[in-house]
Parts: sequence; C-alpha cells; structure tokens
Amino acid sequence: RAKRQGKNTWQWHSGLKAERSQHSVKLRHDLHTALNENQFEIHYQPLVDAVTGRMRSVEALVRWKHPTRGMISPGEFIPLAEQTGQIIPLGLWILKQACIEIADFNAQRERGLRVAVNISSLQFIRGGFLDDVRRVLAETGLPPQLLELEVTESVLLDGAEPVIELMETLKTLGVRVALDDFGTGFSSLSYLRDLPTHKVKLDRSFVEKTTTDHRIAAIVQGVITMAHHMDMIVVAEGIETREQQDDLARRHCDILQGYLFAQPMPLADLKKLPDLLPVNPAR
Ligand code: C2E
Ligand code: MG
Ligand code: MG
Ligand code: MG
Repeated sequence: RAKRQGKNTWQWHSGLKAERSQHSVKLRHDLHTALNENQFEIHYQPLVDAVTGRMRSVEALVRWKHPTRGMISPGEFIPLAEQTGQIIPLGLWILKQACIEIADFNAQRERGLRVAVNISSLQFIRGGFLDDVRRVLAETGLPPQLLELEVTESVLLDGAEPVIELMETLKTLGVRVALDDFGTGFSSLSYLRDLPTHKVKLDRSFVEKTTTDHRIAAIVQGVITMAHHMDMIVVAEGIETREQQDDLARRHCDILQGYLFAQPMPLADLKKLPDLLPVNPAR
C-alpha cells in the first residue's frame, strides 16, 4: 500500500510539474505581446533616512498587469524574461520609463528625488548597456546623479574586470551603482573589496532575523561597520516592524526600506506622499 501511495504521490507531483511548466510556456509566450500592449507598469517604493525618516530615494519595481491572470510578480516573470532574452527590450523599457516618470515627478519639486532601477546581470554585462544609459539620460533629461542602478553579485559570474570597468565609467558619468540582495550569494566579501559601488543593500533574509538571531546580528553589524570603513552606504531591505527599524538604526544602518514605511506604489500615489514618512501606525 505504501508503495502504491508512493506511486500516486509521484504521479501527482509529475502532473503538477507538467502543469507548472505548461504555465510557464504560456507566460513566456504572453511576455512577447505584453511589451507591445503596454501591460507593464512601474511601482515605486520609498527608501528613508534611518535617522530623520525623510524619503531619500525610490526603487522602481516592475509590475505585469496580465489581461487574464491579473498582477504577476517580477519574481515570477523576470527569470522567464531572462531565459527568453526578452529582458533586454523589457529592461530598456523599464529604465526609460522610470527616468521619464521621475523626471516628471521632479519637475514639480525643488529637490530632485533619486530613482534606483534594478538591472539584470544579462542586461548589465551586455555590450551596449552604457550607450543605452547615456541615451536614456539624454532623452529623458534626468540628471545622471539622480539615477542609481541596482545589480546583484551575479554580474560577476563571467569575470570581474569588464564589470569593474563599466562601473567606473558609470561613476564618471555620475550614475551610481548599488549592490542588491547583499549576503545571499557567494564570497560577498571579496566582491565588496573589488567593486566600485557606493551602496550595499542588505537582503531581507538578514533583516528579518537580526532581532532574534545573534549570529545574524553579528554579520549585519560587521557588514555595516566594514561598508562604512569603505565609504559605502548601507540600506536594509524589508523592514516590517518597529523592532527591526530600531535595531538597524541602532547599528547605524543609513537607509531603511520596507512595508513599515511604504509599499511599492504607482507614480500617482507617490506624488501624494509627504516627504517625511510617518511609520504606518497599524504596525
Ligand atoms: P529586489 O530588487 O530585492 O526588490 C525588493 C523586493 O522586496 C520587492 O519585491 C519589494 O516589493 C519587496 N519588499 C519591499 N519591502 C518589503 C517588506 O517589508 N517585506 C517584504 N516581504 N517584501 C518587501 P518585488 O517587487 O516583488 O520584486 C522582486 C524582485 O524582482 C526584486 O527584488 C528584483 O530582483 C526583481 N525585480 C523587480 N523589478 C525589477 C525590474 O524592473 N528589473 C529587474 N531586472 N528585476 C526586477
Ligand atoms: Mg532591488
Ligand atoms: Mg533587493
Ligand atoms: Mg532582495
């Protein structure tokens, strides 16, 4: 009986697997039309100063409004777009759209807001990316100082030298590069040593445990101290509670981002947001 049950389980699993891959075949197909039909939209999540609570910048996070499936999260379709190569035109659209929208947002303000755009490794290391950035800045009028690019350690998989060179060139343009999801990859420390980045973003998987796991807390404190010695700014992602906010602020983390302050939102909502973000009283 146990055997039969095992077999049934196997059949069930493989059925589920087939269904899942059918699902992704369909999504992959839909991705092709999605760009032409304007199904993507960018939401913005504020990053706040850990001391003053003032909004310092926003992160652009793409959303796919699928005509029949509703909202699909980037965690699901970005990997597919990377597999099909669609990430190149999609990534360029995101970069340009974010620059257009934030330039528009800034037109009504005294002080310019900075926008951080996530860049896939494939997109970043592809020849031509630098030209894309230059062209988008020229076409949208966003000052280079107000653009930041978020990349992960995986940009280094095919070798560090061209990446370091590209980052140096971006830096001379005035565009900053931040290291995203820090702590989730391999040999993070040597990357920190080599990369001319000005900011590290501590991954949420650390942030959610600093208050309960003293070893994680030690790593987080170590990264913050080390980054500061290297003249880098540290961001903590995924702040959901006041306890986490207090803990990271006490450890001199510079910038905080998370649902405690604000969720990612459409541009229209961002325009209504006050400069000083009160902590969501419901939490
Ligand atoms: P990421 O760049 O690390 O972005 C942070 C993710 O954490 C976002 O998820 C954001 O909505 C979520 N988040 C922020 N605060 C909190 C919090 O307090 N709690 C929790 N549980 N989550 C929080 P999202 O928008 O679903 O994006 C997921 C990932 O997809 C991003 O991770 C990034 O790797 C990728 N992605 C998103 N937009 C783009 C894009 O325009 N281009 C590329 N290449 N990748 C993107
Ligand atoms: Mg990011
Ligand atoms: Mg991140
Ligand atoms: Mg992350």
